[in-house]
Amino acid sequence: MTTRLAVIGAGPGGYVAAFHAADAGMQVTLIDADPNPGGVCTFRGCIPSKALLHAARVLDEARHAEAFGVSFGKPSIDVDKLRAWKDAVVKKQTGGLGLLARARKVKFIQGRASFVDARTLSVETSAGEQKVEADAIIIATGSRPTTVPNVSIESPKVLDSTTALELPDVPSRLLVVGGGYIGLELGTVYAALGSKVTVVEMTDGLLPGADRDLAAVVAKRMESCAEAILLETKVTSVRDDKKGLSVAFEGKNAPGGSQVFDRVLVAVGRRPNSNIAGLDRTKVKVNQRGFIEVDAQRRTAEPSIFAIGDVAGDPMLAHKASHEARVAVEAIHGKPSVFEPRAIPAVVFTDPELAWTGLTETDAKRQNIPVEIAKYPWAASGRATTLDRPDGMTKLVIDPETERILGVGIVGVGAGELISEGTLAIEMGALASDLKLTIHPHPTLSETVMEAADVFYGESAHVYKPKKSKI
Ligand code: FAD
Repeated sequence: MTTRLAVIGAGPGGYVAAFHAADAGMQVTLIDADPNPGGVCTFRGCIPSKALLHAARVLDEARHAEAFGVSFGKPSIDVDKLRAWKDAVVKKQTGGLGLLARARKVKFIQGRASFVDARTLSVETSAGEQKVEADAIIIATGSRPTTVPNVSIESPKVLDSTTALELPDVPSRLLVVGGGYIGLELGTVYAALGSKVTVVEMTDGLLPGADRDLAAVVAKRMESCAEAILLETKVTSVRDDKKGLSVAFEGKNAPGGSQVFDRVLVAVGRRPNSNIAGLDRTKVKVNQRGFIEVDAQRRTAEPSIFAIGDVAGDPMLAHKASHEARVAVEAIHGKPSVFEPRAIPAVVFTDPELAWTGLTETDAKRQNIPVEIAKYPWAASGRATTLDRPDGMTKLVIDPETERILGVGIVGVGAGELISEGTLAIEMGALASDLKLTIHPHPTLSETVMEAADVFYGESAHVYKPKKSKI
């Protein structure tokens, strides 16, 4: 068959590209190994993890309510029902995407694609091989979990993010290898369900990449619900024996001798799926880290082939993939679109949530960019007090000369819902005074963004700073 556009991979990069292209009038074929569009994000990532995190949050909030006199008693958790609900959420989302593909007349082929040449794909389906010829091809094959030698051993007790989301059971002792966002989100789920969770992280802090003052708020809470957090420590080996998984550690906080866990979750990062059969028959270039090299339009070194999403570079986030999809499709359509966001938000859905967008304070220091920082502690927020969650902070990274907002970081409950105001401010070139002078509804957590801008001007009503004596 011949098509105007073939898209390999139907995650938030691939299916968004296919849908935009179909809406623009192109004939589109979308290929994925899964039975419906959705990709890692919807089948094995963002969506199932957030469904389980919602359950974790309900459990934690119910426990927390005792602080203000509301008790529900000991929760009873039906793991089979929880798993079935999570699966139903995934089915609803992916089924809906399947319907949307059909409504747009996108031809969806379930199978694995490989390259015959720069314009021809071979798709291995359950009914045999199918050839697809296309004027343009978008590679949106995503990424897969990184494995660690001697740790990711062949054992059903050793999990990666995919198998951990299947929720096989609630282990009494779980070791999470990796203190990044996937490890902490899944660790949060299992801890809420009753597992004793230990997190081991090679670097000196959780959530490497986030500003330390913001990550510290999450770390403090994690410390209170985890059995142990072992920083500057790594796992050297995992052995499956009758008692469970025997784990040996080395490093600053390594426990003496080996420790036994019921399950080990390896969450140390993700690798791009650029190892597509036949890709070497094209001019597409793959860099040393395994990412496909693309230009500002997401075009590869082979003019008819584009690459978007996790396979095309960091940050490996669903919304970055979807935005690139828009750019690539517009480029194929002959428009002068380029991928040049000023800010890509990132959210860690732990409790509390941590979100940032634009320039972080850490990156400003690393790149010698002069910035002024304004912080508003949530202990001063009326809304945070009513929620009994003063453990939060809103932080603005501001250009001292122009007073432009360069970055925003928020830690606290619901930070993920609040960060978009920051992204909009950065994209619109807003000044700190724009945030200060925008009336925010009271009492809401969104006021902390306005109040952080007030702090920048030394005008916050709720943060008192004695004036320096002028004498
Ligand atoms: P993917 O979603 O990875 O989809 C690629 C698809 O291509 C897959 O379906 C795969 O089967 C298919 N494929 C690969 N090779 C072939 C081939 N040769 N032929 C046919 N099909 C092929 N991101 C966020 O923004 N927010 C979150 O909250 C979030 N949470 C996450 C939680 C977890 C546990 C994980 C693992 C990831 C999470 N992510 C999150 C990351 C997010 O899932 C990815 O950034 C996003 O899915 C990338 O989209 P993509 O379109 O590049 O590819």
